[in-house]
Amino acid sequence: MKSDDIHNFSSQPLWGKRVSDTLPHVIAGPCSAESRSQVIETAKALKAIGVSTFRAGIWKPRTYPGHFEGQGERALPWLVEAREETGMYIGTEVGLAKHVEATLKYDIDFVWIGARTTSSPFAIQEIAKALQGTGIPILIKNPPAPSMDIWMGAIERFIEAGHTQIALIHRGFDIGLPRALRNAPLWEMTEEFRREIPQVPIYLDPSHIAGKSELIKPFLQIAIALKYDGVMVESHIHPNDALTDKAQQITPYQLSQCIDSTLQKPSGNSDTGTLQLLRDEMNGIDERLMLLLSQRRKLSQKIGEVKAEMGVTPFQEGQYQYKIGQLAQLANTYDIPVELVRSLYEAIHNDSVSIQDK
Ligand code: PEP
Ligand code: MN
Repeated sequence: MKSDDIHNFSSQPLWGKRVSDTLPHVIAGPCSAESRSQVIETAKALKAIGVSTFRAGIWKPRTYPGHFEGQGERALPWLVEAREETGMYIGTEVGLAKHVEATLKYDIDFVWIGARTTSSPFAIQEIAKALQGTGIPILIKNPPAPSMDIWMGAIERFIEAGHTQIALIHRGFDIGLPRALRNAPLWEMTEEFRREIPQVPIYLDPSHIAGKSELIKPFLQIAIALKYDGVMVESHIHPNDALTDKAQQITPYQLSQCIDSTLQKPSGNSDTGTLQLLRDEMNGIDERLMLLLSQRRKLSQKIGEVKAEMGVTPFQEGQYQYKIGQLAQLANTYDIPVELVRSLYEAIHNDSVSIQDK
């Protein structure tokens, strides 16, 4: 880490007060502001279930071109109207200085930095400068790649620009594997942020981690179990008609059911939440093991072909002994019982020899 400023930095409370010590702060709203009526209806329904903070994307950073890219500046008056109707705080994603300038004209209450933007130091620098002097809360999502440095670098840029109302949003990471979840959560990384910079609140974004509406509830339980300071959830009055992130949005009514059955009963549910979390993490590790094993078997096939061309037999005693010694050292480094590594390797090696025999 470059500077000590981050350790001396003391975040002010983002929203004045938390609802309670056990209930994380809930930010909710549609992935995108699509129309005036969609914004107003969603905001009213969310307000009715007790949500105080409204999100809606206006400039949508799409991974591929040719998709709905948001309504742009014309949607800002809809958010302002939602604030006037409901008294909620309103916020949107900014990715460029010109987005900041537009939102400031409408006196927006908070902004967040999207995952893709967090990865770009130029954009972060520009946004941090454009927001100088406003004092509005800035929530910084993790970058898509699992790099603590890129995320921390973005946070430091905001702090060095003089911002004090800062929070993080964990929205999961692209770890480049086939996976059940849209983005893999890395709980260890947010735990480390909590140890490093305990004064910065951390939010969980179950929507972009899960990618599916039916998985929002377990991740809300996890937010409780891991004592996240808040959650940011995508909620749309008619999810089936959503122009972006249709599969993961839930109605305000569904959100209230999730909140009733999880968030308001923290003690009764935290164990289930924690267990679910640990199982998810274990499933992710198992999937990575499977992927590696399948890559290894394909490589073994190639090696078999090369050996056949060279007239070398699949099993080579010297190579086998060398491998056993090397693995014993690795077992030591990674603190795995040597016997476990030996027996696993024997099974893998036998499979490999039989692949090459063919
Ligand atoms: C969003 O919040 O709608 C969004 C685009 O999220 P992310 O930056 O996490 O992909
Ligand atoms: Mn979204």
